[in-house]
Amino acid sequence: MRKRPDPIYHPCAMTPDCEQMVPIDHLMCRPDWALVPSGIKSRVNLTYRRRSADWEAYRDTVRDAKAAVRRARARV
Ligand SMILES: [Zn+2]
Repeated sequence: MRKRPDPIYHPCAMTPDCEQMVPIDHLMCRPDWALVPSGIKSRVNLTYRRRSADWEAYRDTVRDAKAAVRRARARV
């Protein structure tokens, strides 16, 4: 059981629905990321690299990715 997470880890973007810790350069844990459609995945990766120039684009894309995971989970 991990009480104090390593600082290079952060909670999965689906928190509080998910309690996984993921590396800082990953948005979500592997099972949640697998539910994100590939088109949104590539937008996340693109906007993540450009987030210092366009934070809003990244934030909006993350919101889309999280919505997609919620929709995918609701179907299961
Ligand atoms: Zn997760």
